[in-house]
Amino acid sequence: VRAPAAILPAGVSGARFEAAIQAFRAAVGAANVLTGDAALQGYRDPHSLNWNEAAEYLASAAVLPASVEEVQAVVRIAIRYGLPLYPISTGRNLALGGAAPGYRGSVVVDLKRMNRILEVDEGRAFALVEPGVTYFDLYNHIQARGLKLWLDVPDPGQGSLVGNALDRGVGYTGSSFRDHFGAHCGLEAVLPTGEIVRTGTGALPGAASWQDFPYAPGPAVEGLFCQGNFGIVTKMGFRLMPAPEAWFSVGVQAPNYTDLQRLIDQVSFLEDAGIVNGRPLYHCTGVHPFEGRFPSAAPRIPLEELMADGWPSLERIVTYSRRHGGPSWRCDLQIYGPPEVLEAKWAWIRERMIAAIPRCDFQDVQLVKLPLTAEEAKRRKLVTFGVPNTQLFDRTAAQVAADEVRSPNQGFSDFMAVLPRTAAAVHRAQRVIYETQKEVGAPLVATPFNAPTAWFHRSLMMGAPTVALFRGAPDQNARGRKLYAAYARNMAAAGFGVYRAPPAMQDLAAAQYGWGDRALLRFQQRLKDAADPHGLVAPGRYGVWPRRLRT
Ligand SMILES: Cc1cc2nc3c(=O)[nH]c(=O)nc-3n(C[C@H](O)[C@H](O)[C@H](O)COP(=O)(O)OP(=O)(O)OC[C@H]3O[C@@H](n4cnc5c(N)ncnc54)[C@H](O)[C@@H]3O)c2cc1C
Repeated sequence: VRAPAAILPAGVSGARFEAAIQAFRAAVGAANVLTGDAALQGYRDPHSLNWNEAAEYLASAAVLPASVEEVQAVVRIAIRYGLPLYPISTGRNLALGGAAPGYRGSVVVDLKRMNRILEVDEGRAFALVEPGVTYFDLYNHIQARGLKLWLDVPDPGQGSLVGNALDRGVGYTGSSFRDHFGAHCGLEAVLPTGEIVRTGTGALPGAASWQDFPYAPGPAVEGLFCQGNFGIVTKMGFRLMPAPEAWFSVGVQAPNYTDLQRLIDQVSFLEDAGIVNGRPLYHCTGVHPFEGRFPSAAPRIPLEELMADGWPSLERIVTYSRRHGGPSWRCDLQIYGPPEVLEAKWAWIRERMIAAIPRCDFQDVQLVKLPLTAEEAKRRKLVTFGVPNTQLFDRTAAQVAADEVRSPNQGFSDFMAVLPRTAAAVHRAQRVIYETQKEVGAPLVATPFNAPTAWFHRSLMMGAPTVALFRGAPDQNARGRKLYAAYARNMAAAGFGVYRAPPAMQDLAAAQYGWGDRALLRFQQRLKDAADPHGLVAPGRYGVWPRRLRT
C-alpha cells in the first residue's frame, strides 16, 4: 500500500499541500475534498498502461466544486499553492485514462456535482448543459418532457456530453452529430488565471444566439479546449438531432476482395451527398474485427491456412476467398428519415449500387418505424437509436469472462489511426499493423480482412488491439506499451496519425504530428505559456507541457 505522502505534486511540500487542502475545504466544503489512498481509489485508471508502477498517474487529491464560482476558487487556490489540476466531467474515459489525472500528483477537479441541464430547446434543437450531465440524464429529461429530439450517444451512456466531446468523442447516429466536439455550439470555461470566458456568440453580453451560431468575430478559440489544457469547461451547448420517423438499413455486399474501392466510393458519395445520413458499418463477412482477442468470436471462415506463410499475396487472398465463398466486403448503410423518403432513397441506391459494383448483393433490408417499441428495443443496438445504455459493457464483460480473463483486474487500450477513404490506405494499414505485431513479437491477429471503421464523416479509422492488461503482470503491461508505441510510430510513418490516446501515450501521439520541425506543438506550447503562466491546468495533455515542465 502506498503511503499517501508518496503522491504529492512534484515540488510541493507536505505542509504546503496540507494548507492547500484546508483552503479547498473552505471553498467547496470538507466533504467535497478527497485525500488518502482509500478515498482516491476511484480516481485510478482501471485500464492504466502503468498499473501499480512508479509511472502510474495517481491523483494527490480530488475536489468536487458545485458551481462556476467554486471552480474559480479552486483554480485560485491552485495558483496560490502551485498545485497542478486535472479537470474531469464524469471521469468515464475508459481505456483512455479514466478518472485519473494525466500528470502524477495532480488534484483532480471532478465536476460531477455540476449536473444541471440549463436549457433544451426543441425548435432550435440544442441543449446547454453543465459538465456532470450524463447521457442518461439528458435522455431522461428529453423523454420526461416529450421532446422530439435525439442525442448522439457513445457506448458508455454513463459518460458525460461535455467530457466525451472534450476528448473528441464520437457516436453512432447522424453524420453531422457523431463528431461530438464538432456538434457542440458554444462553451464557457474558467481559464487557468481564474477568469471566465464564453466562446462564439456567447461573448456578446445578453447573447440571443449562443447555441445557434458558434462564431464570434476573430480567431476561433474553442478548439483549444478539445483534447486541450487551456481551462476548465463549465458549460457547453450541443446541437441535437430532430427525432427521425424511421430507420432504414441494408447490407451491401461486394463479391470480390478487390471490390473494396468501388464499395468505398459508392458509400462515400452517398454520405457526402447527404443521401445516407447514418453511420456506414464496414466489415468483412465472417471475420471479427479484433479476431484473436476473443476466441468466442472466432471467424466462421478460418484464416490460419491463408496466414500460415506470412502476409499473403493479393492473388492468394483472391483465390482463397473464392474457394471459401468469402470473406467478402460488406457495408451496412443506415438512413434516418420519414419512411416514404427512405423507400425512395433505397430504390435509388439499389440501382446505383448494381450499376457500380458487378454482382453486388443486398442483405438484411430493414425499415423500422420509430420510436422503437419495447420489444424492438430489446433486440437492437440502442446507440443506433440515440438511446444511452451500457450494452457493450455488459456484452464485453460476459465475453471477456468466457474467454481470456483470468481475473476481473484486466483492461485494454486499443489503438486507432485515421485513414483516408481509400482501399489502398485500408490495405496499407492492415499490413502495417501485421508487420508491427511481428516486429514486437505480439500475437499475429491482423489479417487482410480487418475492416475499417467509418466513425467520423469523411475519414476511416483502423483499430488494432494492444495486448490485454493484467494488474499483477507489469511485464505484460510493458509489452502492451511497446506494441502501442510501435503501432503509433509505424502507422504515422505510413501517413496514418493517432486519433486519440491514453495519457501514457499522448506525448508519443503528439510527437508523430511533427511536420515543420514540430511547428504545431511549439505553437500550442507558446499559447499554453501565455494562457496558463503557472502551468497548472492538465500539464502535458496531448503533449502540451507548460514551460516549467518542458525538457
Ligand atoms: C468498451 C468501450 C467503449 C467505448 N465507446 C466509446 C464510444 O462509442 N465513443 C467514444 O467517444 N468513446 C468511447 N469510449 C471511451 C470513453 O469511455 C468515452 O469517451 C466516455 O464518454 C468518456 O468519459 P466521460 O464522458 O466521463 O469524460 P471524462 O472522463 O470526464 O473526460 C474526458 C477527458 O476530457 C477532459 N475533460 C473532461 N471534462 C473537462 C472539463 N470540464 N474541462 C476541461 N477538460 C475536461 C479531461 O482531460 C478528461 O480526462 C469507450 C470506452 C470503452 C472502454
